[in-house]
Amino acid sequence: METVQQVRAVWTGDEWELHFVCNVEIEVADTPGEKTVGVDLGINNFAALAYEDGHSELYPLNCLKQDDYYFSKRIARCDDSDSEQATRLNQKKSRRRTHYFHTLSKHIVQRCVEECVETIVVGDLSGIREDEDGEVKDWGKHGNLDLHSWAFDRFTDLLEYKAEMEGITVEAVSEQDTSKSCSCCGRKRDANRVERGLYVCDECGTVANADVNGAENIRQKVSPSLACDGGDRSNGWLAQPSTFLFDKETGAFAPQEQITS
Ligand SMILES: [Zn+2]
Repeated sequence: METVQQVRAVWTGDEWELHFVCNVEIEVADTPGEKTVGVDLGINNFAALAYEDGHSELYPLNCLKQDDYYFSKRIARCDDSDSEQATRLNQKKSRRRTHYFHTLSKHIVQRCVEECVETIVVGDLSGIREDEDGEVKDWGKHGNLDLHSWAFDRFTDLLEYKAEMEGITVEAVSEQDTSKSCSCCGRKRDANRVERGLYVCDECGTVANADVNGAENIRQKVSPSLACDGGDRSNGWLAQPSTFLFDKETGAFAPQEQITS
């Protein structure tokens, strides 16, 4: 029988949740391997992953965006934003988000097990909340999506706890310069171009998906080997991530090419 250690009331942005903290004995698996993966969290691709042996994955937010749009329209049609109907819709929206974050964190941990990952390196999320002057960024609205910084914190918590059960460690590192530096040659400058989601290095000519480049820089903070180390890793993988989408039919993430609907 578990004993409750603490009860917390947590505001999710839409509703209050009660979180019970208990001591539970869990079986922890052996570490799947010795590799590292870098995870860059953001608002276009919710997560970009760069694996140590040179491949990358993107998890776009399209599903949440569609959901948000759908619920926002329905809520806007309610007579009163405090009405019972509006409250119910808000709660449903919130539950679907929670489900999405659970499913995504579970999927990523599963991928890490398959890829023999020992350490997941995530960017320290204070970078998401503050801009370069240390001012708190307003993430209130981005397109149709109101994704607050708590969503990233929450996701990292879920990832950490699910990873731990598989014997994988989650390490947070500073995100400083991870979007400005070239993960291939290490060149850092403000002038490196980011266009339509591509990072282009003026020094070595690397063209990378900007979020994958960020994820690889985050990974290198723990395991410093350049993305193109002259060995068997060419830089093509930086520009060609596999994209995983949330499949509403199955309720799971699947590679884009496998989703037909
Ligand atoms: Zn470069």
